[in-house]
Parts: sequence; structure tokens; C-alpha cells
Amino acid sequence: MTDRIPFIAGNWKMNLNIDESVNLVNATLKGMRDLEDVDVLIAPPFTALSAVKQATGKSRILLAAQNMYSETSGAYTGEISGKMLREAGCTHVILGHSERRSLFKETNEMIDLKVRAAVALGFIPIVCIGESLEEREAGTTFEVLRNQLEGSLRNFIKEQFMPYDTILAYEPVWAIGTGLTATPGQAQEVHKFIREWVGKGFDSETADRVRILYGGSVKPDNISDLMSEEDIDGALVGGASLKADSFVQLIRFKEK
Ligand code: PEP
Repeated sequence: MTDRIPFIAGNWKMNLNIDESVNLVNATLKGMRDLEDVDVLIAPPFTALSAVKQATGKSRILLAAQNMYSETSGAYTGEISGKMLREAGCTHVILGHSERRSLFKETNEMIDLKVRAAVALGFIPIVCIGESLEEREAGTTFEVLRNQLEGSLRNFIKEQFMPYDTILAYEPVWAIGTGLTATPGQAQEVHKFIREWVGKGFDSETADRVRILYGGSVKPDNISDLMSEEDIDGALVGGASLKADSFVQLIRFKEK
């Protein structure tokens, strides 16, 4: 089995101005000294990307956008293209976050177009999926996740190819920003299902290499248990990524 390097990502959502963003990244960089074998990514708001990129300099912090549009330029008022994000220094892009799906009515079809555009421009996509509380209680979790995977990754399926560096994020909607976390066992069950889905649809090498993150109220006191599960390769963190103290504890989870 491939040793998958742990991947800890902070999604700042619509928080922090430019100064606050730069301060947070500087404090994070301080806390990352001598850190090895963990990939660290942050996804600031669009307005702070360039300043954060400058602050990260040649450090190991990876920069992601929280969203992008599927077209590269044109009359799409209010949207942002991959080309613009690349210019701002992003290498990754979060796509299909549950807040995009629910608040902004993004469909699997739209997400698939974005994934396709992102990969064509050389981005590594972080594709999010997750079930709602009603869906979990109705026993349809796996059906919902399968539909999201099949719909959001349609182009990969058509091409019969998923880049090894693709990142998938399982984020149960009921655990995002609620303080409720899936138990390590619940999360592992889903991550295993996702890895098996990748193995069946592509090949075992891809399944072995693709990293699958868990997201949903990850905090310093629950990350170690989550990360000890075989198929959990990292975390996509909202709230706890907004303070250097907690984010640094998360990226240093191995030392706990
Ligand atoms: C998220 O926004 O992806 C997330 C998981 O948020 P939180 O960690 O705050 O639940």
C-alpha cells in the first residue's frame, strides 16, 4: 500500500480581511517550523489570496481557492476563473463544498464541469461530498454519496482516468460547523466505501493513492482518533482553521 502523506486543509470561508489573513498565515508558518510529512493547505477568501501567497513565499503551505467557475473568461459577472486563481498563486481548488451545493444550488453537473476545467488548467481539485442528517437517518447515506461521486466526477469516469493527486473530502453536512463530529468509525466506514468506489471505477493504484479527507467539526481534541483510521488521510477544517493556535495543533496532530 502507498504511504499517503497526511493532508490538513483550512477552509477560511467568508472570514478574515487581508491583514487578518496575513497575520494568520504568518502565525501558522511559525507553528510549522520543523514540521515534516504533513501537507498543509489554506483556502482564504479571494480578496486575500495574493497577499497570502506573498506571505507564504517559498514555504510548504499550499494555496487553494474555495470555488471557481468552469469557464476561463467572459461575461460571467461575479464569477472567478481558474486562470485568475492561478495568477493569484492557487494550486488547488475546493469544489462542491456543501455550502455551495445547498446555499448556491450547485448541482453535480455544475461541479463536474468545474472539476473538468480545474484539472485542464493544472489544478488539483478537492471535491467534497456528504449526506444530510435526514439522508443519514433515512439510511440512504451510501446511495447519496454514490450519486454525488458519479455526478461530480462524471468526466473522470468518461475518460476512465482520475489523476492520482485528486483529493476527495467526505463532509457529512450534519457535522459541518455544528460541533457534531462523525465518530472515527462512522467516518472510516464512509472513507472505505469511497476508496472502494474509486477502485471499482478506476483501478487499485488510483484507489491506493487518492487522498480522502474528513471534514466536519474537526478540532485538536478529535483529530488524532480520526487520523488513526486506515482510510482517513487528512482533514478539511473550517472553524478550527481560523485561529493559529488550533490550526497548528491540527497540523501537528502526530505529536499529540
Ligand atoms: C468545512 O467548512 O469544510 C468544515 C468542515 O467546517 P467546520 O470544521 O467548521 O465544521
